[in-house]
Amino acid sequence: MELEFLRWLREAIPPSPRIPLGIGDDAALLTETTGKQTVVTTDMLMDGVDFRLIDHLPVHLGRKALAVNLSDLAAMGARPVAAFVSFALPSLGRDEQELPRKLIEGLLPLAAEFECPIAGGDTNSWLGPLVISITVIGEVDVGQAWLRSGARPGDGILVTGAFGGSIRGRHLTFTPRVREALQLQSMGVEVHAAIDVSDGLSLDLSRICDASGCGARLDLSTIPIHPDTEPKRLSPDGSLTVYLTDKSPLEAALSDGEDFELILAVPPAVAAELLRTQPLGVPLTQIGWFTAERGLTQQLPDGSVLPLAPRGYEH
Ligand SMILES: [Mg+2]
Repeated sequence: MELEFLRWLREAIPPSPRIPLGIGDDAALLTETTGKQTVVTTDMLMDGVDFRLIDHLPVHLGRKALAVNLSDLAAMGARPVAAFVSFALPSLGRDEQELPRKLIEGLLPLAAEFECPIAGGDTNSWLGPLVISITVIGEVDVGQAWLRSGARPGDGILVTGAFGGSIRGRHLTFTPRVREALQLQSMGVEVHAAIDVSDGLSLDLSRICDASGCGARLDLSTIPIHPDTEPKRLSPDGSLTVYLTDKSPLEAALSDGEDFELILAVPPAVAAELLRTQPLGVPLTQIGWFTAERGLTQQLPDGSVLPLAPRGYEH
């Protein structure tokens, strides 16, 4: 199976000047760029833990497995270079090439869109469930990677896009914010810290705070709440879908995972300029600011301050 699959895979992947030697030898060769640091991220998705194969189309899972890695590169302010894709495939006893082909077909359009060709990987079959492991290599100008640890008291908390309700479909179809990150980098915008929201807005924000040794104060009236958090939805054909949830839209925006938007810490003057000019294709919103005092807090309209517990998906 492996040989025929590899032949198919090699034909499916467009050539890249950065990858003089990709799939087919003992290892791949990547051409270095002077003045760049290499950024490496890896993510493993397991049937029964991170998804359920019976609930999802393999093309969607393949796309998502690459997209979550690209989102991590975006959170570092890095440009994608190459992806390495490995599957542990359940022994199905029938057309065993169909599943890996569907997974690859799902991720190829995203790989093309973000110029991140597959340069290698591995496939094995076993009696266990499907496991997808993807490693993505990226690059960033030396010293210019966005870390979680650089936020300073007074920095504005900016976010891309809107939050909550991703389980209705966006957790599969989201666009990793690679373009936005690279645009901010090319504009020379001073970003002190960043993270992508995989586990929940408030929880991932608290991770920047922990890494930076500071706290954050949120103005909850400014949180961009995604329409997917609404408990009812009217379809264009007039049919009404009611979603059962015990979360308010605001609670969902603060705690639902898999939005894959970016949280950025930027100096106040830079935040003001970005909010005024809105240079990205997606909206930027300021939801609060970092504080010297540790912990998350919320500021109420009357100016009073209450603690805010970070919530989200804990691994
Ligand atoms: Mg991340």
